Amino acid sequence: MFDAHAHLHDTEIAAKFDRIVSDAAAAGVTGVCSCGTRPEDWPATQALLGKPLPLICVPGFGVHPWYADKLPHAWMETLEGYLDGNPVAAVGEIGLDGIRRAVPADVQEQVFLAQLELAERMARPVVLHGARAWGRLVDVMRAHAHKVPGFVAHGFGGSREILARIVDMGGYVSFAGNVCNPKAAKVRAAARETPDSQILIETDTPDLFPAGGKQAGTGAGGKPLNQPCNLKLVLEQVADLRGTDADTLADLTAANARRVLL
Ligand SMILES: [Zn+2]
Repeated sequence: MFDAHAHLHDTEIAAKFDRIVSDAAAAGVTGVCSCGTRPEDWPATQALLGKPLPLICVPGFGVHPWYADKLPHAWMETLEGYLDGNPVAAVGEIGLDGIRRAVPADVQEQVFLAQLELAERMARPVVLHGARAWGRLVDVMRAHAHKVPGFVAHGFGGSREILARIVDMGGYVSFAGNVCNPKAAKVRAAARETPDSQILIETDTPDLFPAGGKQAGTGAGGKPLNQPCNLKLVLEQVADLRGTDADTLADLTAANARRVLL
């Protein structure tokens, strides 16, 4: 299994990092794409690569839309430096967000576009966040999808129409633990309809803890912390929705992740 989206550098899970990665490997996770979200956490994302890990770690460096309004002056140069130093790194997690509206939409879009253009210039795949902003995100991607080597719509939760547009643009669609919620009808429909060649699975560690998973600890506000070994629950649920077996889907999604990210 390949966990297409996680934040292994996250300070909430730092104390348990060694156990988390060994549990992940024991559960059959062979690779993780681990994304930074703002300049302050790029050093910790970089530091992951210096550790002896029992799995492949593809780093992502980027500014998440939640942090688009608090950037230091030379953030673009710093980002380019991290990408230069890591030839396999993706640009992510970047995108647009409609949940936390504290960051103005025009600021989010400006920071998103600057990073997309950097990914184009450096020929890197992009990892996209589009929570409650999938429509606008797909509109923006129309002019850019063909200029990057690939893109991942992480934690997908958009409509059938938006799914079709992402698939048409050649994007990869990644499903997280919310697919395990029987009430998440839209997400579950998308997990059924995404073509075999473009589907991915993820945990979004330490977020989106799935019911029945193994908790990595308790985060801010009592939130249960997720970890990559819980990818198995997402795998089994998505396999069930698609009427396929878990092993077949594990191989398929891992091959897709390698194709777009490595
Ligand atoms: Zn994320």
